[in-house]
This record gives sequence, structure tokens and C-alpha cells, in this order.
Amino acid sequence: MRSSFRMVKMERIAYFGGTFDPVHNGHLNVARALLKKFALDRLYFLPAYHAPHKPDRPPTSGYHRFAMLCLATEGFPDIYVSTLELEKGRSRYTIETLPELAAAHPGARTFFVMGADSWADIRTWRDWENVLLSSDHIVVTRPGYPIGSDHVTQAVRERIIDLRGRPNAELDDDIVNKHIYLTDAAVYDASATELRDDLSDGRLDRTDDIPPSVANYIEKYELYR
Ligand code: ATP
Repeated sequence: MRSSFRMVKMERIAYFGGTFDPVHNGHLNVARALLKKFALDRLYFLPAYHAPHKPDRPPTSGYHRFAMLCLATEGFPDIYVSTLELEKGRSRYTIETLPELAAAHPGARTFFVMGADSWADIRTWRDWENVLLSSDHIVVTRPGYPIGSDHVTQAVRERIIDLRGRPNAELDDDIVNKHIYLTDAAVYDASATELRDDLSDGRLDRTDDIPPSVANYIEKYELYR
């Protein structure tokens, strides 16, 4: 029998963590763009039980946030919603979650996704340097939040690969080193805080930023009033 060698692409999985209170088109735009740009096999939204670094405002029930994410991603076969954080039933830090994400996909490459505002605030995250060094990350541009690197350590800076302005950049499967990829694959100006404010004021003109199924859900369950 003739033996043959085939180059098999490593499976690529991304997790997009956040509160998603509510999910909006900015989040969805990022998910769709990253699937394409990074040739991902799957992207999971990973709603937090309660963002530990945002203790000021308790989020909407995880059940509602999960339901809205499921409605928003219904038409996208490669976009999933993970129950991992919600099922833990307590606030967790990303440093606790990252090994579990990697363990859930043996042999795959797992990326953790964050927006430019989260990147700017990264030093408030527990054990932030280890968070950045222990996994592959994707940092996505967000209007109003320039992406700098002065706030991170030299060890982290050395892991940064800046893909901004490089529409056709190919991603190598470097299984030895972890990287932090900066990308401008998605640019969409929307914010959950602004949407909640508008919804509580009874101003529905911003529902352009929310998929219709999610807007209907918010109205039906009288959220953000
Ligand atoms: P808030 O306005 O209340 O802070 P948010 O819109 O940032 O909410 P989160 O659930 O906090 O929503 O965000 C989850 C993740 O999505 C974060 O990493 C955040 O940086 C990123 N993100 C949110 N909106 C955008 C956007 N318009 N473009 C790119 N990334 C975004």
C-alpha cells in the first residue's frame, strides 16, 4: 500500500468572553469576521457568570443573556454559545478558565478573544501577565479605543503579532509559542452600556445595533426597563 503524507490543518477554536448584557451587533460582527480571518473551525461566545472586574452593576440573569446569545447566533452554524462559565454558578477569573478551554479541545489551538477596551484594562485582570502568556489571544479593534502596548510587560510585547492593515495575512500554526494577535478585521461601534441606557429611556432607535430576534426578546421579557 502506498503511504501518503497530508498536511492537516490544526483545528482552531476561539472563545469570546464577556457579559453580553445584551449581545449586540458589535459582538456578532467580531465573531463573523474572526471566523473568516483566522480560518476558525468554531467560535464560542462565553458569557460570564458575573464579570469579576465589573462589581458595580449586577448583570442581567445568565439565563436571559444565554437565551439572547442563542437567538443572535441561530443562523450561524460555526458560532456557538458555551455554558461553561454560567454552569459554575460563581464569578470566575479568566486565569481559572483558560486551562479548561484548552482541555475541552485536545489537539486544537484555542484563542481567547477580547476587544480593545478589555486589552486597555488588562492589568486589572487577576494574574494578567499569565493570562496573556498562557494562551493564544486575539485583540480586536473597537472604535474609540486605540490599541497600545506600553501598559504590558516586555515578555508580553514580544508575543504580539500585529495583523492590522494586513488583510491577506496568513496565520501559521505555531504550536510551540503563544501569541497575541492584533486585528482590525472587525470595526463596529456599539456598546452594551449605551444600549441599556437607551432601552431604559424607552428610546428604541438604537435597536439597529441588536438583531431583531434579540430586540423582540428584550421587549417580551421587559428587560432593561
Ligand atoms: P459595556 O459597554 O457594558 O462595557 P460591551 O459592549 O463592551 O459592554 P461586553 O460584554 O462587556 O460588552 O464585551 C465583551 C467583549 O466584547 C469585550 O472583550 C469587549 O471588549 C468586546 N466588545 C464589545 N463591543 C465591541 C465592539 N463594538 N467591537 C469590538 N469588541 C467589542
